This record gives sequence, structure tokens and C-alpha cells, in this order.
Amino acid sequence: MSNQTKIAFIGLGNMGAPMALNLLKAGYSLTVFDLSPVSLKTLADAGALAASNARQAIEGADVVISMLPASRHVESLYLGKDNVEQGILPYIAEGALIIDCSTIAAQAAQKVAQAASARGLAMIDAPVSGGTAGAAAATLTFIVGGDATSLERARPVLSAMGKNIFHAGDNGAGQVAKICNNMLLGILMAGTAEALALGVANGLDPKTLSDIMSKSSGRNWALELYNPYPGVMDNVPASRGYTGGFGVDLMLKDLGLATEAALATGSATPLGELVRNLYGMHSQNGAGAKDFSSILELLHAKEK
Ligand code: NAD
Repeated sequence: MSNQTKIAFIGLGNMGAPMALNLLKAGYSLTVFDLSPVSLKTLADAGALAASNARQAIEGADVVISMLPASRHVESLYLGKDNVEQGILPYIAEGALIIDCSTIAAQAAQKVAQAASARGLAMIDAPVSGGTAGAAAATLTFIVGGDATSLERARPVLSAMGKNIFHAGDNGAGQVAKICNNMLLGILMAGTAEALALGVANGLDPKTLSDIMSKSSGRNWALELYNPYPGVMDNVPASRGYTGGFGVDLMLKDLGLATEAALATGSATPLGELVRNLYGMHSQNGAGAKDFSSILELLHAKEK
């Protein structure tokens, strides 16, 4: 795909905005849309064309990318809602490729891909891992579900936003791999927060304890790259009041997707269920919009 490729990007939140900025940096012609005027302005200031609705954004686009919160947003964007709002699928140009990077249910990804296919359009699910720092640095991991030909068509565009591209299987398989990863991430984050809270309550300095565990058998991504204890690391949500990262309610959504997948297959996910309940309690306490590393506040009395 050349840089003459016209890309429409819909959903410019914590992840979508930096991903779209990287497409601009790579020289793509970019039209963007988000319900939030603030996000739209950020991209317009950087050189993207700001559309006033999703249908306008996709006009003449060769590639349509979406980065929305959950299944319902993706389904209503493409397929419409309750026969009231119309989806954009009928208006996407012939031969265009659709890439949905949101984390949603595998069944929702398959449903939209089937509807796209019925219109003769190729679609892949390409959820990402790597957080907002990975989005900004264009080092995301893309976990793709869909056919290999569509993945090859998407590869140059994905490469402008990420470093690793995996083909998990057919449509929906990217989402299954992603929710397995995020269930593990939720478990690791809660476990890391619990260990740090225990150490601090027993007189340890959180930075010293983090340094020790990072070189010991408890080392993991949450501890080393996304430390949940305020002040231990620069440039992570914990050190800016748990803002600007991966929301508690988005983690709760992903843990719910893992539960649904477990129920559908009779799988045992006891730790995933425990952590889903912890995140549910944390959200009910009013922390839904905070970064997910704020689970430390639920586990650490002194931080409340
Ligand atoms: P976010 O809440 O920051 O952003 C979502 C954006 O979508 C918002 O700007 C919102 O205004 C916009 N939006 C919602 N409905 C829309 C619509 N109909 N039309 C246009 N715009 C619409 O979420 P995020 O953190 O950017 O996450 C997006 C997706 O990526 C989620 O599925 C999340 O689970 C996944 N994800 C997030 C992270 C992370 O670290 N934040 C990491 C990996 C994956």
C-alpha cells in the first residue's frame, strides 16, 4: 500500500489518537472522526482532515480503521442501531479494507466481518497490545484475525503503528488471543499491586521493592513497564494520578469477555473471575475512568 492510500480513522481516544498521529507521520492521507471535538482538533492541528461524522470520514477511503471502546460501538458504527441509526458499511468504497483495532467480543467481530464480506469488503480484527506508550512510540503488537491476503494488504498500514504483527487465525481469532492476554494482564496487575501494597505496609520503599522483584522471579510487564505504585516510574499513569492509560472500565469489559468465552466453552478461569470481581468493585467505588493500575488503591489502605 502506497502513501497515496487514503485512510479513514474513527475513534481518537487514548489509543486511537496516537495511532492516527503515527499514520500521519508515515505520510498517509488521513481523515478522522470522533464524537469528542477535543480529540478531533488534536488530529486536525497535526494535519489530518477532520470529518463531521463517520460517514463523511469514510468517503473514498481505501482503508477504514476503527478504535472504539466495545462491541456495541463497533456494531453500531458499521451495522447501525435498532433500525434507527444507519451504519457506515453500505457507504464504504468498493475494494476498501476494514481494520477494526478495538477489543471486542469475537462473535461481534465475526458478525461485522460477515456483513462486510456480504458486501464484498475485506475486514480483519486487529486488536492491539502495548498500551498508550506503545501507541505513541509505534511499537504496538497487532493480533490479527482474518484471511492471510487481507492481513498482507493491511501490513504496511499496521507497520506504521506497530512493531509486531501476529496472525491468530480467522475472523474473531485476534479477539480471542487478545482477551486471553488481557485476562493475564489483569491478574498480573492485581498481583503486582497486592505485592507492592504488602511490602509498603511492612515498611519497604516501593521503588526498592520494585527493583528487587524486577530482578527476581516475580518480574512481569505490569511491574517493570507499567508500575502501579505512584512515583516508582516516570511516564506511567500511576505517576500522573492514574490518568491517560487503559481505563478500569475497559479492563472490566475485557475480563467480562474472558468470562463469556470461558462460559461458552466450559473453561475454568478462577483467577480471571476473581480479578473481574476486583475490577467490578473498584469501578463501583467510582474508579471506572481511572487507569487500570489504580487497582492498587483498592488493595492499599494507605493510598486511599
Ligand atoms: P478511549 O475511551 O480512550 O477512546 C475511545 C474513543 O472512541 C473516544 O474518544 C470516544 O469519543 C470514541 N467514540 C466512541 N464511540 C464513537 C463513535 N460512535 N464514533 C466515533 N468515536 C467514538 O479508549 P482507548 O483506551 O483508546 O481504547 C480503545 C480500544 O482499545 C478499547 O477496545 C480498548 O479495550 C482497547 N485497548 C486499549 C488500550 C489502552 O492502553 N488504553 C490498550 C490496548 C487495547
